[in-house]
Amino acid sequence: MPMAAIAFDLPSDVATARDGIVAFAAAEVVPRHARRRDLLEDPRKLYRDDGRLSDAAVAVIKEVRIAAAKAGFYQMCVPEALGGGGLGHLAYYVAWEALFHRFGPQHWLVLQALAHWAFGPSRLLTQMTPTARERILPGLMSGTESMCFGLSEPNAGSDASMIKTRANRVGDRWQISGRKIWTTNAPTADWCVVFAITDASAKRGGISAFLVPTRAKGFTVQRVIKLFGHIGGDEAELAFDEVEVEPWQVVGELGQGFAAALYGVSLGRIYNSARAVGYGRWALERALDYANTREAFGGPIANYQGVTFPLAESATELHAAHLLGLNAATLLDRGEAAIKELSMAKAYSVQVGLRAVDRAMQTHGAMGFTNEIGLTEAWHTLRIINVADGTNEILNRTIAQRLLKGDTEL
Ligand SMILES: Cc1cc2nc3c(=O)[nH]c(=O)nc-3n(C[C@H](O)[C@H](O)[C@H](O)COP(=O)(O)OP(=O)(O)OC[C@H]3O[C@@H](n4cnc5c(N)ncnc54)[C@H](O)[C@@H]3O)c2cc1C
Repeated sequence: MPMAAIAFDLPSDVATARDGIVAFAAAEVVPRHARRRDLLEDPRKLYRDDGRLSDAAVAVIKEVRIAAAKAGFYQMCVPEALGGGGLGHLAYYVAWEALFHRFGPQHWLVLQALAHWAFGPSRLLTQMTPTARERILPGLMSGTESMCFGLSEPNAGSDASMIKTRANRVGDRWQISGRKIWTTNAPTADWCVVFAITDASAKRGGISAFLVPTRAKGFTVQRVIKLFGHIGGDEAELAFDEVEVEPWQVVGELGQGFAAALYGVSLGRIYNSARAVGYGRWALERALDYANTREAFGGPIANYQGVTFPLAESATELHAAHLLGLNAATLLDRGEAAIKELSMAKAYSVQVGLRAVDRAMQTHGAMGFTNEIGLTEAWHTLRIINVADGTNEILNRTIAQRLLKGDTEL
C-alpha cells in the first residue's frame, strides 16, 4: 500500500482535477492509442515523406483534443476570463506530472488531454484583443485548432533579445519578415504567436507579439527538423515574407512582447519540470518491477545493491524535484515571480529525470534499449528538455543572478 510521501495536501480542486484528467486519459485516450497502434507506433505511417505528421495522425491528435475539450479537461487551466476552468499553475503542474507518471512516454496521445501552454489556449493569451477572442479563441478552446510559439531564431536562442524578425508598420498594419527555428507544432498549427521587433531603437522593449494564421500569405514552413534519427518531427523552420497583420492580432501591449515571451517560457518550465518528474517516476517504477523479477546469479537482481542503490538515489532526487515543482507552482499561484525557484525546479527536474531514466535503462540490461519498453523515448525527451525552455546553463545563470542580487532565501 503506497504511503504519503508529501506532508501537505493539495487543494481539493487541484486533486480532483488531477484525478479527473487521469481517469479521462485512462478511459478515452489509452484505448484510442491501442486502437490506432498500427498508425501511432509505425513511423512510416506516422510521418509523410517531408517529415510532417500524416493526415491520419493529425486526425487522431485532433480527435483526442476535441474529446478532452468536450469533457472539460483540455481547457481546465485556462483563465476564467478566457472561458476556461480557471485552475492555476499548481493544477497545471500536478495534472501534467500525474499524466506523465501514470502513462509514460509511449502513450504520447495523452499530451493532447490538457491544453499545452504553447499549442493550445493558455494564460499566454490573456491579453489578446476582443476581436482575436472572437476569431481565434473558439477554435482553440474546442480543440479543433492549435497554435505554436515562434520566438527562437537561427541567431537567437538563449539570448532571445537578439531576434531579427521585424514587424514594419505600413499604415495601420504591419508586415512581418524574418525567420524562426525550432517552432514546435508549427507544421500542423493553425496559428502562430510570432515575436517580432516593432521598435528597433528600444533595447528589449521593442519586441511585440502577434497572432498570425499559418495559412497567411508569406508564411512558409520551410522544413521539418528531424531529431534523434526520427524520420519526421514537430519542430520546424519558418520563413515570414511580408506577412500582413492588423492591430487586432497584437497580443498585449505593443513593445511589451518580451515579457509575454518570458512568461510563456516560464509556463514551459512548469510543464517540463512536471514531465521530467513524471517520466522519471514512471521509469523508476519500471526498473523496480524489473529488478524484482529478473534473475541472475541465483536470485532476483534486486538482491544486489549495485542495482538498487542507483534506484534509491533516483527516488531521493525525484522526490526533491517533485517538491521543488510543487513549491514553484504554488508561488506562481500566489502571484510571486518565483524566478529563482522555477529555474531551480526546471534545471534540477530535467537532470534527475534524465538520470532516473538512464539508470532504469541500465537496470533493464539490453532490454532497456528496446522500443517496446519506451525508456529510450523518455530518455530522448528528457535529453532534449535539458535545452528547450531554457538550457541548464541559462537556468543556473538566472539562479546565480538572483542570488547575487540578494535573493538568497532557500
Ligand atoms: C525540441 C525543441 C523544441 C523547441 N521548441 C521551441 C518552440 O516551440 N519555440 C521557440 O521559440 N523555441 C523552441 N526551441 C528553442 C529553444 O528555446 C532553444 O533551443 C533554447 O533557448 C537554446 O537556444 P539555442 O539552441 O540556440 O542554444 P544557444 O543559445 O546557441 O546556446 C548554445 C550553448 O551555449 C550555452 N550558453 C549560451 N549562453 C550562455 C551563458 N550566458 N552562460 C553559459 N552558457 C551559455 C547554452 O546553455 C548552450 O549549451 C526548442 C528547442 C528544442 C530543442
